Amino acid sequence: MTSEFGTASSRKVVRLLEEAGYEAVFVGGAVRDHLLGKEASDFDIATSAFPGEVKQVFPHTIDVGIAHGTVMVIMDDEPIEVTTYRTESTYTDHRRPDEVNFVRSLKDDLQRRDFTINAIALTLTGELIDPYGGIEDLKNRKIRAVGNASDRFHEDALRMIRAVRFSSVLAFEIESKTFLAIEENAESIKHVSVERIKAEMDKLWRGVNPAKAIAALRETGLSDHLPLFPSYVQLLMDCAPFTTTDQGWSALMLTGHYSASDLAKAYKLSNREKAFLSDVLSAFGRRQTSPFTIDDYYRFTLEVLVATEKVWQAMHPEETGIPVHEMKRMQESLPIRSKDDLKVNGKDLLAWTGQRGGRWVGEWMERIEYAVLHRHCPNDLDKIKEWFFNECKKRKR
Ligand code: ATP
Ligand code: MG
Repeated sequence: MTSEFGTASSRKVVRLLEEAGYEAVFVGGAVRDHLLGKEASDFDIATSAFPGEVKQVFPHTIDVGIAHGTVMVIMDDEPIEVTTYRTESTYTDHRRPDEVNFVRSLKDDLQRRDFTINAIALTLTGELIDPYGGIEDLKNRKIRAVGNASDRFHEDALRMIRAVRFSSVLAFEIESKTFLAIEENAESIKHVSVERIKAEMDKLWRGVNPAKAIAALRETGLSDHLPLFPSYVQLLMDCAPFTTTDQGWSALMLTGHYSASDLAKAYKLSNREKAFLSDVLSAFGRRQTSPFTIDDYYRFTLEVLVATEKVWQAMHPEETGIPVHEMKRMQESLPIRSKDDLKVNGKDLLAWTGQRGGRWVGEWMERIEYAVLHRHCPNDLDKIKEWFFNECKKRKR
């Protein structure tokens, strides 16, 4: 094990806690990813120091989640999360512990964590603490609940979605008892807030094996209890993998024949995401009748076109789709990318005609935009002026 784990500031935080007489270790996703040989980020630190004690060790801290034992330490301008070892007791609502107890034992802290691969701690000297067999499960590429899977999912139903999410992100198998426990407890996912589900789904979409995760959502029955999820998922699986979360939500929307606003409402998507889906729905409608046109390349962003084409191709595997580089080339070759690129504006029209402003200005600007986009006229002030007067004359005839 390398002693290079963590950023300089995070290592300093661990060292200062130790020098103050407490235990402090790295835990969670960063340790897991490091053991998998991946670049780790977000170096979470767990410590035997209680939150008040952590605050005494460091001059600059922010209370981010002090009720749950998390203090943000600002070390050399870097924010580092430090969480006190804790256990959680009696979950009556399938999502939040009724009580969080701070403890001094690392093993107890690791025991409340969701999966064995997420319950490995690493000390500053490079020693691994792995009481639940996480390293073995990493080797065998297994997602296994810590302790009794059914109890753990009963406590916090989100863990079931997390299991599926990790199966996508890591391309691991969900161990069979853990899988069965998800089947048993699937219905309780309805107690979990949609915000938490959405955050996991975003990670699921971007994983290396979302198709497998989508299949698992169906097979376990979890998808029956999600806010909106198609019962027939083959198309959604055929669209995978995805390079962005937007692509994942787009594929879900089109597979389930949902409207952008219904999907946005069900999963509390942002306004930006909703607008994206709305564009995908329009672009998809256009794509049903023909390959994208100049107007489509002009109106939609490349991301929207790519997300749309992905689904269209999955639906029409026998037809030749439009490759991304081709869509990119088409967009780059447009004479203008937006109205702002036009070499004339409304004021020019007023000056040329000596007329007063009115609805006609906007209407003519649209005609000019169309003419330039379709190369009926070059994007050049004098050429547009000439075209404009010509058109005016034609219309008078
Ligand atoms: P990522 O790389 O996506 O951040 P992660 O494993 O770090 O993955 P986080 O959501 O950041 O996931 O959580 C950090 C750690 O906290 C996890 O590794 C796990 O040990 C623990 N944890 C997070 N959520 C839960 C939960 N719902 N139940 C139990 N333990 C959890
Ligand atoms: Mg994390």
